[in-house]
Amino acid sequence: MKKLLIASFILFAACRGTRTTQLSSNEQGMLIHGKTFATVYQQSAAEYRALCYQAFNAARWSLDAFKPKTNKPKAIVTDIDETILDNSDYAAHMSALGKDYDTESWYQWTNQANAIPIPGAAAFLHYASSKGVEIFYISNRDDREKPSTVANLKKYNLPNADEAHVLLKKETSGKEGRRQIVSQTHEIIMLMGDNLPDFSALYDKKTMPDRNRQSDLHASEFGQTFIVLPNPVYGDWEGSLYKYQYGMPPAKKDSALRSILRSY
Ligand SMILES: [Mg+2]
Repeated sequence: MKKLLIASFILFAACRGTRTTQLSSNEQGMLIHGKTFATVYQQSAAEYRALCYQAFNAARWSLDAFKPKTNKPKAIVTDIDETILDNSDYAAHMSALGKDYDTESWYQWTNQANAIPIPGAAAFLHYASSKGVEIFYISNRDDREKPSTVANLKKYNLPNADEAHVLLKKETSGKEGRRQIVSQTHEIIMLMGDNLPDFSALYDKKTMPDRNRQSDLHASEFGQTFIVLPNPVYGDWEGSLYKYQYGMPPAKKDSALRSILRSY
């Protein structure tokens, strides 16, 4: 009996220890299971690849049809994560641990500079570069991730993979200030991203209904000056449902996600 009690105590302590780093299946709810399912889609669905190719085909047609408005050199501004580089290995790693994104594990991932290019990204960027267009990478990776980010872009020989063309987050996650810096010297002919704030400050930290209303107003831009890549795993679409309070407990996030489902 005494042995059984000791064994039970050890098991209880071990379970508690696990709970501090890993959520139980119930706690994971839609959040972790949903991200796992979305990661399977990103890594295995030919439809995901087709959407990426479709986006870069639209970018190419748009570039070919572009009529300059100024004499400034031409630039394309692109986001990096889930637009040019595929971080689904990180998402898969975290879902195996039963965890969501956190900054330290993300740094460990980006520090490896091992993200592969999104289907069609390298071919399009090289095509744009061959037409004399410079590529500026505006990303909300932290500025401390700059050496590994440049190294990752260089690994796949992507154009303009250097310190001057990679503008990471310093004080603010809003990208408008960095777009304006590029506009001072270049005419931005196209924006590419997986998250609507990659295109306009009108999406910065907006509610879900506001984001949807604004996307309706921008309908004619998509596939023209705004080239959108699919990202079912994360983004402001998710953050807006938590009112951008990413530290919200998993159970509350789960309720927030379920609360917006339309059903009958
Ligand atoms: Mg992105």
